[in-house]
Amino acid sequence: MQVRFWGTRGSIATPGPDTLRFGGNTSCVEVTTNAGACFILDCGTGARGLGAALMARGPKPLTATILLSHTHWDHIQGFPFFAPLFVPENRITVCGPEGSGRSLREVLSGQMEYTYFPVDIAQLPATITFQELGEGTHEIGGARVVAEYLNHPAMTLGYRIEADGAAVVYSCDHEPFSETLWHESPSPDHAESIVHEGDRRHARFMEGAGVVIHDAQYTPEEYPSRKNWGHSTYEYAVELAAAAGVRQLVLTHHDPTHDDAFVEEIEKRARECAKQLGGVVDVCCAYEGLNLAVEPHDAGHLARMPSAPHEGGDPQRGRRILVVDDDPDIRALANLALSQDGHIVIEACSGQEALAAIIAQAPDLLVLDLLMPGQGGLEVLKILRSNPATAALPVVVLTAMDDEANTRAGFEFGATDYVTKPFSIPQLAARVRACLKRSGTGVT
Ligand SMILES: [Zn+2]
Ligand SMILES: [Zn+2]
Repeated sequence: MQVRFWGTRGSIATPGPDTLRFGGNTSCVEVTTNAGACFILDCGTGARGLGAALMARGPKPLTATILLSHTHWDHIQGFPFFAPLFVPENRITVCGPEGSGRSLREVLSGQMEYTYFPVDIAQLPATITFQELGEGTHEIGGARVVAEYLNHPAMTLGYRIEADGAAVVYSCDHEPFSETLWHESPSPDHAESIVHEGDRRHARFMEGAGVVIHDAQYTPEEYPSRKNWGHSTYEYAVELAAAAGVRQLVLTHHDPTHDDAFVEEIEKRARECAKQLGGVVDVCCAYEGLNLAVEPHDAGHLARMPSAPHEGGDPQRGRRILVVDDDPDIRALANLALSQDGHIVIEACSGQEALAAIIAQAPDLLVLDLLMPGQGGLEVLKILRSNPATAALPVVVLTAMDDEANTRAGFEFGATDYVTKPFSIPQLAARVRACLKRSGTGVT
């Protein structure tokens, strides 16, 4: 496989003399298999240059698959400027995460309404097929494409493309699930020493990949004031890549406020971090024009992901969600986040009230606080997990206790996910959607 970077900037295009080296165009990466299948990871403004190159290069007509991580601006703004869409014989498949509330076609059409752009999506001459993907493995363009929900305040997918005996992972935009990555006394198997199940799953997703392209928008110093914005630090990316036996890590989605000198410094610090972890991972910061050949490697490292995407439940019906918290403000905020998302929200203000509501109302998912007067969240979890009727009920723990011991205890007691306060409305909505999808009671 060949990988080429066309856009490396996050959030907004940042052209100018200060970004000449690493580039100012937003997210776009081209992956070509040896058999000639063309994958385009995100369609930020970098997609304009890629489109022009594909038109010049051939073959004609062109067949390509666009894999959109999500539909935030910096990942779709190049779509209307992607020249192959204007050629009648070309066949373009556009894939993106399901469950965003509106269909992928509707969202992409939105940015091409006449108010914003002169050509309506229906007028594009190429044959365009839209495919909404869930988490799991998909066969696309002769390759195995594994999708994983990322931690971002929108439904967002990471992609792992496996072809030619190698794997390339693309993971933008993504934020650590927990600020504490490792157990206090890590065991020899590094991935198993990760505190949060979400970060552990993310490490497994990268396992043994030849190239991992990872969000690294912030420095560890910047991150605390940008928590819940949905982006990673280079430190997180390097530590997970090292634990996952990744050969080469390419840091991308550079912050618009970071000039070339700053990104260069990030590269230096990330390399230092990799060196301290044994120096197995080769790290660099992505720049426009960076070309990588991904060599075949040990085929034993395949992502342990479900092989079939889950289809979810009735797409039109909201799920019944029980929010358990003794703080009325938190209940109101969670209620707002989830009812805006089309769910039916029930509230309980104590463990006892929650257990009664579970029997009476049979919710599809629980959002559960840990620290409550009387019966605490962990006790409720224990009762639920020991009863066959509720053993598999998805439970999203929502708590201010973000330390290692509590996060670990939450998962040991059977939490499906662990979200720490303060949280944002889109973040909680996206995490609940991912849990529902995984449990098979999902919405689309
Ligand atoms: Zn982005
Ligand atoms: Zn985003």
